[in-house]
Amino acid sequence: MMIIMQPGASREQVDHVIECIEENNLSAHTSVGVKQTVIGVVGESHSVSPHVFETLPGVQAVQCISQPYKLASRQFHPENSIFPLDGFTIGGNKIPIIAGPCSVESRSQIIEIAQTIKETGANALRGGVFKPRSSPYSFQGLGDEGLKYLSEARELTGLPIVVEVMAVSQVSEMIKYVDMLQIGARNMQNFNLLRAVGDTRIPVLLKRGMSATIEDLLLAAEYILVGGNNRVVLCERGIRTFETETRNTTDINAIPVLKSLTHLPVILDPSHSTGHVNYVTAVAKAAVAAGADGIMVEVHQDPAHAISDGRQSLTPEAFATLVSKVKAVAEAVDRNLVPSKFSLPLGER
Ligand code: PEP
Ligand code: MN
Repeated sequence: MMIIMQPGASREQVDHVIECIEENNLSAHTSVGVKQTVIGVVGESHSVSPHVFETLPGVQAVQCISQPYKLASRQFHPENSIFPLDGFTIGGNKIPIIAGPCSVESRSQIIEIAQTIKETGANALRGGVFKPRSSPYSFQGLGDEGLKYLSEARELTGLPIVVEVMAVSQVSEMIKYVDMLQIGARNMQNFNLLRAVGDTRIPVLLKRGMSATIEDLLLAAEYILVGGNNRVVLCERGIRTFETETRNTTDINAIPVLKSLTHLPVILDPSHSTGHVNYVTAVAKAAVAAGADGIMVEVHQDPAHAISDGRQSLTPEAFATLVSKVKAVAEAVDRNLVPSKFSLPLGER
């Protein structure tokens, strides 16, 4: 349930409501809106009557949240969630582009591609160091060594880094380096991992599982939110269907549907959703037209020799074209791209 405080309710009144929630063995999640404060009550709230809270000083109303996910719902938090990610915001009018190779392959590879994509419009650098490969015989990633190369690329370019975490045991080391933790499609319902990243205060990019419904994705996000980490970005990356021409099927519907069900930012990864360079730019444009808050795309300086996902990785030139096309679509829907650090005056980069 959610407790809506009267406009202008005092700090003491809010604190008193929170105390009362906790005395009933429930947890309180406060959202301070433009007009009023709303307190989400989660836990086994069916065991406590809403009347307990209705008469407390400063309370305007108590409402049930009808969806199974509570803190992720638009009902609980009607305004879009907008939060900072090292130099820009995500979830607002400006659309960031996260780009980089599927895997970190070497120090020179990641540094070179980071510098190149920064010049052509990337706002954040992606790169996997622990890779969830379908086969145990495929390259599994450089591990901690890769993290060091990524953080060197970050130092040199100023681009924040987005890196996939695959196991609870990796979380404590990774948060020393990364700006955003990615939970991959295969781990979307690894509930222990979701709880572990929910205990951190690092933004999380949560990718949709390839067979997960939109509701499954929102319930996975709820695991992170309930831990107190409210900086969660959802990522549509294609789902498995009967179609075999593409690696996955981009569920473009998911963008407007998620935007109506949740306040969390929603981005699209057209590289994994299509699996082929020829389709990435078209689908990136479609995502922005449909209301996506960002794009994540794989780029490699030599896709033919990439260790993983070369078929879907754009060359730096193709990436530059994608950025200019996506920018035109963003402007057509009254949005814009986050300006690249490279376009800023020298002192502000
Ligand atoms: C990735 O981003 O490289 C990745 C493995 O993605 P997904 O989890 O969507 O397959
Ligand atoms: Mn990949």
